[in-house]
Amino acid sequence: ADDVTLDPWGSASVDDYRKLFEQFGIEAFDDVLPQVPNPHYLMRRGVVFGHRDYGPIADAMANDDPFAVLSGWMPTGDPHIGHKLMIEEIVYHQQQGGDAYALVADLEANSARGLSWAEIDRHTEEYLLSLLALGFDPEEGEIYRQSGNERLQNLAFELGAEANFSEMQALYGFDGETNISHMQSVVTQMADILYPQLDEPKPTVIPVGPDQDPHMRFARDLADRTRYFGVTEAYASFEADPAERVLIRAAYDAIDDDDIRCEDAADYLREHHADEAGTSVLPKLDNAGKEPIRPRVRFLDRNATDEAFEALIDAIDGEKRVFEGHVDTFDLDADAAEELAREVELGHGGYGFIAPSSIYNRFMTGLTGGKMSSSIPASHISLLDDPEDGYDKVKSATTGGRTSAKEQRELGGKADECPVYELYTYLLAGEDDEFATEVYEECVGGERLCGGCKEQAAELMAEFLEDHQEKREEMRPVLEELDIDIES
Ligand code: SF4
Repeated sequence: ADDVTLDPWGSASVDDYRKLFEQFGIEAFDDVLPQVPNPHYLMRRGVVFGHRDYGPIADAMANDDPFAVLSGWMPTGDPHIGHKLMIEEIVYHQQQGGDAYALVADLEANSARGLSWAEIDRHTEEYLLSLLALGFDPEEGEIYRQSGNERLQNLAFELGAEANFSEMQALYGFDGETNISHMQSVVTQMADILYPQLDEPKPTVIPVGPDQDPHMRFARDLADRTRYFGVTEAYASFEADPAERVLIRAAYDAIDDDDIRCEDAADYLREHHADEAGTSVLPKLDNAGKEPIRPRVRFLDRNATDEAFEALIDAIDGEKRVFEGHVDTFDLDADAAEELAREVELGHGGYGFIAPSSIYNRFMTGLTGGKMSSSIPASHISLLDDPEDGYDKVKSATTGGRTSAKEQRELGGKADECPVYELYTYLLAGEDDEFATEVYEECVGGERLCGGCKEQAAELMAEFLEDHQEKREEMRPVLEELDIDIES
């Protein structure tokens, strides 16, 4: 009963982040922070609280290696300050040298939320204007709508062949009532997550809210499942001595059981090769030594070098034995060799996707306390709010203040429970860490009183909104030029 339920389409509330770490294996961002060359202020301030596999991204940034960032937004409402965080994280990674992708999950909005296309178009435009106004560089990065991206949809279709209903049921709680398009929107989202790697595998980070984690787990799984060429199609019979068959078969089984990854198979064999006869390698090989074993030839993910690829073809030509990029000396029979050659030429099946990484943002507290919810306008600030409305909302926000000024001076305010303080850290203090710290110290030290503190925050919010909306207007012609197929 203590488990946290993560539902990408449910209400966004996670009261105990620690549970996420334990239950799902999300790691604390603090652990990887020292490796990040130039961390964003949201990282420095712990708003980005968790990650999966961010290390390769940090390394890529440090070494100037290729990496990518992708995130998206379901166009179901106006962009608000929560979206601003996600956009800033895309922009940050773009500025650190990553290939950046921003997508509009319009198929998902249509299938999972049932919005009309006219509404979707309108929200899409609003979102993209804020994306550009917050610094996304469309010349360097790519913006797309799911519905307008054919490569994406083809990839989604292929990924769908690797996914089945039971696992969606387990991950998302789908049942017999779940409509097919909703399921399809899931595989589309899987395709979104892997899309930056279509042309070339590279570490890719997806900034998300913790409620989106099921998507990350699923995508990481699918990345593994689609890793290889010729996964099931290419079979080759061979003549090897029984001991070798045992070894090879053991490796294939281990790969199938996901005990090891394909590229580790050689090491695995070495490790288990202590017994030269090989017959005792794995007890599960009950048919060891029986009649002809036809192991699957699983070979070459796209990370494999051209050299390895050529070695395979040479091996087939030379009728040599092929295993995991290692060319040995057993013979393929002629038909099998031909078939294998054909499969290889066709590049049948498989990609070299690297399991995608993710970072997780804390949810923002609503200005009225409780959750920030788009259905309660006073609880959140839309990027389209009139600056005066933004000002008023901050002024009427709940605080972590004490019951009287006297008490506050004595005991200090409770900044850690204050939505106004959150605004300072998430947004109003911007890059200025000193300012954010100052607000905190003054508050908990009793020098700062809520009236003045909110006035300052409200003014900063109004300034931010005014400035942002001006930039949005400047971006209108840029957006039109981009030709992203928005009807409105
Ligand atoms: Fe919040 Fe500011 Fe009041 Fe502290 S002084 S509780 S930060 S509003």
